[in-house]
Amino acid sequence: MTILVIAEHNAPGDAASEGSASLKPATFNTLTAGALLATLTDNQIHVLVAGYNVHAVAAAAAKIAGVSKVLLADAPHLEAGLAENIEATVLTMAREYSHILLPATAYGKNIAPRIAASLDVAQISDIVAVHSADTFERPIYAGNAIATVQSTDPIRVITVRTTGFDAIATEGGCAVVEQVAVAANNGLSHFENREITKLERPELTAANIIVSGGRGLGSGENYTKVLEPLADRLGAALGASRAAVDAGFVPNDYQVGQTGKIVAPQLYVAVGISGAIQHLAGMKDSKVIVAINKDPEAPIFTVADYGLVSDLFEAVPALLDAL
Ligand code: FAD
Repeated sequence: MTILVIAEHNAPGDAASEGSASLKPATFNTLTAGALLATLTDNQIHVLVAGYNVHAVAAAAAKIAGVSKVLLADAPHLEAGLAENIEATVLTMAREYSHILLPATAYGKNIAPRIAASLDVAQISDIVAVHSADTFERPIYAGNAIATVQSTDPIRVITVRTTGFDAIATEGGCAVVEQVAVAANNGLSHFENREITKLERPELTAANIIVSGGRGLGSGENYTKVLEPLADRLGAALGASRAAVDAGFVPNDYQVGQTGKIVAPQLYVAVGISGAIQHLAGMKDSKVIVAINKDPEAPIFTVADYGLVSDLFEAVPALLDAL
């Protein structure tokens, strides 16, 4: 049977999409997991693009390497991406698939459990590796152990930890796009409004470089004064520890960690962050980690590739001068 990947995309009205809908990077990582599964099981991959006025998104999905068919579900009541309506449409086709994959983002985590419950199967959450058609790896205990899980369910509903898989090539495919029937609006929820932070910087979960600040910065003012110029110079996204968020230095969507965002950029610069396990759970898969902390015993140095034991208020401006 075939593998279905449910695409996450921006709605045309989203600030982040600048007027036109586009696939979110998490979809590309999810598709890599799907491609691995497809190779191991000799299956094809279909992508579902559900939304409204999302023909361009479907066309982009059709170009992705390895995708054999794009299913386009286009209707006004799918515009806001409400889980109840997306689920209803997925259920019209779910039994034709052996695996249904979604990114382990807020979007995917909202929809996948509904699909799994309706199909009466167990959800396999947050996979980071694929062993075979029924066996996967997923982190447990805040990433301190990896569980190998096997599912005997007929349909595997899976969420994919996006940092566990590289992005798939966005060009090279030529899939057909097929318009599919959309389930009627089930009226279980309706869209009120969306408040979106307009980012001048890369999005945290998609950034190649992240500069992240912790309680060591002392205040929101210092966070802005010390970290923003460094992030600007590096073209980086800004992140934070939970202590920095709880102290009100920055909004909570900056939080990296077990209860924040899971990131794995090429470069993660941790400034004034001690490296509590809950923080490490969100960033330790970063390719290169740089830590600046005045305490040589800080646990962040156990995961850092480059560590600078120094007062951040001297080290960061000096680093900026040197860049
Ligand atoms: P601290 O631990 O206080 O560290 C501050 C660091 O700054 C210290 O190492 C200090 O040496 C250094 N410093 C101070 N001044 C300077 C200076 N002038 N120059 C250089 N260095 C300096 N935390 C997260 O980050 N993300 C999560 O998702 C998360 N989820 C959690 C979930 C649960 C269930 C629980 C219980 C906790 C969670 N936490 C999370 C909180 C976590 O345990 C830590 O409390 C938090 O990460 C600490 O943040 P911090 O490193 O900024 O602060």
